[in-house]
Amino acid sequence: MATFRQQIATNVLRVTRFRDLMKQVGAYRPNDDLDLIKKAYEFSLRYHTGQTRASGEPYLVHPLEVACVLAEIKLDTIAIAAGLLHDLVEDTSVTIEVIQKEFGEQVAHIVEGVTKIGKIDFHTREERQAENLRKMMLAMVDDIRVILIKLADRLHNMRTLQHLPEERRLAIARETLEIYAPIAHRLGMGKIRGELEDLAFPYVDPIAYQQVHEAVEARRKSGEQFLAHIEGILREKLKEAGIQARVESRIKRLYSIHLKIQRQRITVDQMYDLLAVRVITQSVQDCYAVLGMIHNLWRPVPGRIKDHIAMPRPNLYQSLHTSVIAENGSPFEMQIRTEDMHHMAEEGIAAHWKYKDGPVSARDEQRLAWLRQVVEWQRDVSDPNEFLSTLKIDLYPEEVYTFTPKGKVVVLPRDATPVDFAYTVHTEVGHACVGAKVNGRMVPLRYKLKSGDIVEIVTQTGHNPSRDWLALVRSSRARQKIKHWLNVHQRERAIEIGRKLIEKEARKYRVPMKGISDQQYQKVAGDLGLGRPDDLMAAIGYGKFSARQVLARLAPATAAEPTPEVTPEEKPGGLLRRVFGGESGAITVKGHDDLLVYRARCCNPIRGEDIVGYVTRGKGVAVHARGCPNVVNLMYESDRRIDVEWARPRKEDGQDGGFPVKLTVFCDDRSGMLKQMTALISDEDINIRNIEARTANSQATIDIVLDIENLKHLERLVGGLRKIPGVHDVQRVQKI
Ligand code: MN
Repeated sequence: MATFRQQIATNVLRVTRFRDLMKQVGAYRPNDDLDLIKKAYEFSLRYHTGQTRASGEPYLVHPLEVACVLAEIKLDTIAIAAGLLHDLVEDTSVTIEVIQKEFGEQVAHIVEGVTKIGKIDFHTREERQAENLRKMMLAMVDDIRVILIKLADRLHNMRTLQHLPEERRLAIARETLEIYAPIAHRLGMGKIRGELEDLAFPYVDPIAYQQVHEAVEARRKSGEQFLAHIEGILREKLKEAGIQARVESRIKRLYSIHLKIQRQRITVDQMYDLLAVRVITQSVQDCYAVLGMIHNLWRPVPGRIKDHIAMPRPNLYQSLHTSVIAENGSPFEMQIRTEDMHHMAEEGIAAHWKYKDGPVSARDEQRLAWLRQVVEWQRDVSDPNEFLSTLKIDLYPEEVYTFTPKGKVVVLPRDATPVDFAYTVHTEVGHACVGAKVNGRMVPLRYKLKSGDIVEIVTQTGHNPSRDWLALVRSSRARQKIKHWLNVHQRERAIEIGRKLIEKEARKYRVPMKGISDQQYQKVAGDLGLGRPDDLMAAIGYGKFSARQVLARLAPATAAEPTPEVTPEEKPGGLLRRVFGGESGAITVKGHDDLLVYRARCCNPIRGEDIVGYVTRGKGVAVHARGCPNVVNLMYESDRRIDVEWARPRKEDGQDGGFPVKLTVFCDDRSGMLKQMTALISDEDINIRNIEARTANSQATIDIVLDIENLKHLERLVGGLRKIPGVHDVQRVQKI
């Protein structure tokens, strides 16, 4: 228990801290309404009263410190007010509705976001999950201020981690390294990332920490003297050259040293950048002037000059780096950047996060502005692979991150449903899935899962998958499992269908089914080379024999009767069926609405290609390209073959939305390559479904999935792509 005197002391400290906060915000946002912050502070004080932190301090210290971190990165008053209120909904009786009423929709929305993320249990032993958790956190947030508050929250918790019990410390420190520090890095917030890492390091790996710590301490004194000496020389030379610049220096951060030792298997003394001097200039021009000056003063280490000004890192970090050797033979790193770049390196996205003064525009507009900004920043990134992967996370979250009730992350494709989820958990769970609870509420099976959803699958023993589910699922695993089940159980269906067909046929000829004995069935089955009556029914269901053929054998009297007019559609195989193309590849057969026709996935034929159909077992008619290896290799029995042809396009203009086609382009890995390709594709007015690039040894392999109208269209495009300089080959991938 804190004594009365101690309480007074902390109260005084807190009030001073709050006054400083107001002063600070007032200085960088002179036009903002500071009353909002004051009101949030008083509100937070009122509702957190009586609560204490593990350190014994009043709880309010925490939101106040979080707000101070936010003020340091110069966030707006909305964010700072939300920072002061961030724990209220989670920890007190205050509801989000009350916050909205008192502080407006924006503050409430941010606090809600922070609360939502806070409910997720990020603790995980599985390294592989960390990346997913990071992505999920970013995918769940539509206002970046939510993330910034989470980072500030974590920073203060890490600064006071020693007050928590030991096992909690380790879990939180590990989570900080795996989730929060990388997010700060992604957002370019070097300062917060560095502090988070160095705070977590001793808890996560005490032995390595001790070693690195001792190695650095042994070199600290001489290092600092050396840096002061270099700084002195630089200041003098800068003055002589008339360049206005600040000079500062640092010893590499402990965790950063640790990572380098692990990654490159080198010792502290082999590091060129253990000691670094930074020159912060007024202009880009001066950066390059300073670089020249430095190379005149000290000998540069070959291969260590990096121009991150011309080629910013994916997180927008900009700087010139070079390693040089001092007169005494010690290597050190030089970093040269402008004040703006420095600001960006330290604060990242927060440096760009400025709202217009006055009333803030609608939330959606802010989000768009943020997205636009990311696109703009990423435009100059050199590695197309990196660019695309970043873009994917930021702009087109193609994945959703959901949880089992026990907190395990389940990653699914966008628009996945509870059926996908069920199959990810277990095949049997998938088969028996009848419903799902999402966040405690029952949802229909077609419900589209969202990131952060906690999903509980409701099963029923004896329940079976249905063909309709194929339209519900997005994941290939679920699709495969459902198809497999259907194939296995399809014989039963074929028997059922066969029986119905023969009954129908019997009615037509007025043959009493009851008059046909088991022996007759058995005999006919035997005559047709089949084992049992069930096999006979299945053979009819599969379309191997027509009901008419079988009935004629079962009741020979009917064979002599005049045969009713048989419509061509009733004859199995051998006739022309028209295939309609169409959006999303939905294909039907004319006059046969009950017959499902689909483009075979092994070759994905497109309009204009020579095609051939195969009656499959219970799945309808598969349409293959005539040249498809599966057709050529006679994988299919010839009596299943059926003639098909392309129907006229549905739309007047001869366009029917196109068919997905996958191309692989092999080319040089040079800047502008991707841009040239996408320009060509969009000139052809072709929709790009997906694009992925891999690079190795300055060669790139780019996979593109496009919507192509017809074969001519495809040939024209491939011809165009081949003409781009640096493109070695373009191949169509039959299987998408
Ligand atoms: Mn908190």
